[in-house]
Amino acid sequence: MSFNTSRLVSSFEESATLLLSGKAKKLSQQGRSIINFGVGEPDFNTPEAIIEKAYSAAKEGQTKYTAVAGIPSLRKAVADRLKADYQVDFNSADEVLISSGGKQAIYHFLQAILEPGDEVLIPAPYWVSFPEMVKLVGGKPVIVASKGERMTAEDIRPLITKKTRLLILNSPSNPSGMVYTKEELASYLKVIESHPIWLMSDDTYYKLVYSPSEWSSVLKIRPDFRSRTCIIGSSSKTYAMTGWRLGWAVAPKPIIDAMIKLQSQVTSSACSLSQVAAEAALTTFHASSDEFHQRFSKRRDFIYEKALKIKGLKPIKPEGAFYLFVNFSEALKGRPVAEYAEELLEKHGVCVIPGVAFGAPDYARLSYALSEADIEEGLKRIQKSLEK
Ligand code: PLP
Repeated sequence: MSFNTSRLVSSFEESATLLLSGKAKKLSQQGRSIINFGVGEPDFNTPEAIIEKAYSAAKEGQTKYTAVAGIPSLRKAVADRLKADYQVDFNSADEVLISSGGKQAIYHFLQAILEPGDEVLIPAPYWVSFPEMVKLVGGKPVIVASKGERMTAEDIRPLITKKTRLLILNSPSNPSGMVYTKEELASYLKVIESHPIWLMSDDTYYKLVYSPSEWSSVLKIRPDFRSRTCIIGSSSKTYAMTGWRLGWAVAPKPIIDAMIKLQSQVTSSACSLSQVAAEAALTTFHASSDEFHQRFSKRRDFIYEKALKIKGLKPIKPEGAFYLFVNFSEALKGRPVAEYAEELLEKHGVCVIPGVAFGAPDYARLSYALSEADIEEGLKRIQKSLEK
């Protein structure tokens, strides 16, 4: 008798970001001084007023299962926020699914539209979970490598086949912090418009875009794409609510209905109290996201200017999110970044995520969701590690 794990589980990787930053957390708990640039979450707590709302809701008995698709007032709050922030005509809470994090919403969307062997276009560098989730539902990730610094429509065009079913866009990008311009978005949509290809726009970081860059919604640029677009959103990064596990998908009703059916069998619904908290965040305490934005904007400038001064490092200036993506190839003179990252953590107590996990092996990702003092100390240690 053998009791192996399934072939499916063996076919994909564990999240490299969670793995490495978990290792860093463990070392820190053992008393080591660790600067963790690996974390993908704000370093501040959820605003007190949001916590209070969830606490009161618990006391009042909102501790039961909710509707599978989410509490109706939260579905409406998401629809209202979308209408206001995206400046699109959007009134339908029926086109919103509330999930346990944006991650689960993405997974349900992929399950709802993909057949085995369907191809999914994923621009590199990409968020670690996109290709793995596509594989998990039997699809085939097709990585779009840019010839220049930024992806063009011509990078996408030759990769479209009869099996292409979906293009994933993520702006601002995790890991590069890049934000697509209006013109870029319009050109990507033009390439796929005559093909039966869905669009998934992962807008997890859309509130974290720094001047002078501007974020644009695909739905505003091409309202006619609404019937073939799924928007992914989350309270995690905007409101410092990663642990509450609350996100959403906005898509045409038949797709949302299919996702509700899936969710009904998998988790029943997102956590009731997290839903109450997210509704408070999206409506009453929305301004808290502006305060977080200001802090991250300052740190963006701080880390970028400091990293630029380290010999051999080539950072990409982030336009959004809270990650600095740095080319280490010159500094490491051909040594694999992944090997260096292991040593950096063990010997110097600094955790960075090697770019190989994001489809960019010469790079490493540094989250700047850290205090300026920690950012400064971490970069000093990196500089020292490269001087040897
Ligand atoms: N999309 C991107 C690009 C992300 O970076 C993340 C989290 O790191 C998510 C989606 C999912 O976030 P959550 O599941 O916490 O809502």
